[in-house]
Amino acid sequence: MPTSLEDFEVLSTIGTGSYGTCKRIRRKKDGKILVWKEMDYGSMSEAEKQMLVSEVNLLRELRHQHIVRYYDRIIDRSKATIYIIMEYCEGGDLATLISKCRRDSIFVEEDFVWKMLIQITLALKECHRRKNGQAVLHRDLKPANIFLDSHKNVKLGDFGLARVLHHETSFAQTYVGTPYYMSPELVNNMSYNEKSDIWALGCMLYELCALRPPFTASNQTDLNRKIRIGEFSRIPKQYSDDLQAVLAKMLRVEVVQRPGIGEILTEPFVSWRRSHLE
Ligand code: ADP
Ligand code: MG
Repeated sequence: MPTSLEDFEVLSTIGTGSYGTCKRIRRKKDGKILVWKEMDYGSMSEAEKQMLVSEVNLLRELRHQHIVRYYDRIIDRSKATIYIIMEYCEGGDLATLISKCRRDSIFVEEDFVWKMLIQITLALKECHRRKNGQAVLHRDLKPANIFLDSHKNVKLGDFGLARVLHHETSFAQTYVGTPYYMSPELVNNMSYNEKSDIWALGCMLYELCALRPPFTASNQTDLNRKIRIGEFSRIPKQYSDDLQAVLAKMLRVEVVQRPGIGEILTEPFVSWRRSHLE
């Protein structure tokens, strides 16, 4: 029997984003707490709807301990709404954590940064492994898309669907807000690749330490210039030289010099910490 709306009880609204509303729900048959994202497809074209369906089907195939698990989807034709049911991440997201730290002037523990580094890299490895010619996931790597479970383990989420709803829009619109994490190759209008994700990861981890992105400016032109040069200050002094060194590698301007996912995981500082984490 297919899943229906009646199989769940809505507990609360978590928040409303650009594409829909996220609600905390309880699965009646076993009491499991999940979330669903309600998205209105009424204003979408046939082609967009088709893309949404294929995107959701793709997400269903991604099963990894560090990727938000997608369970099911329900389509309510009368309301032109799709409900995407997924794992509930009770630890919130990294964007919220970073703003709390900034507000309270506290830095996160270095061990937590290494844990994020390793677990996000593992999640990305799985996404890249899944990459195939016709259906490439849009990986919108930013702190708001890094969720945490109750044990503060990473759950990479919220990717793919953004691309569906923005597919025909311009480059500038794809990057809503200031694109602090845009890589030098993207600034230079070159294509997105696996290494662009590494750059974004470096920016994100840097921000987790410094509580501000590595490259900032008040306008796009200045930001682009800074990104192309690739100079940034050291992360706060309480963090180790090892951590600074790994971030500096991720933030190498030249794509060929920048490590890929495999190289990051085999980096001695990283593999040592990985063995202590598991
Ligand atoms: P946005 O456009 O802001 O990303 P979303 O619909 O993705 O909007 O998310 C709305 C809110 O729900 C955000 O606060 C987000 O952190 C939260 N959220 C999204 N997915 C989950 C999840 N799987 N578990 C817990 N909270 C989530
Ligand atoms: Mg989101």
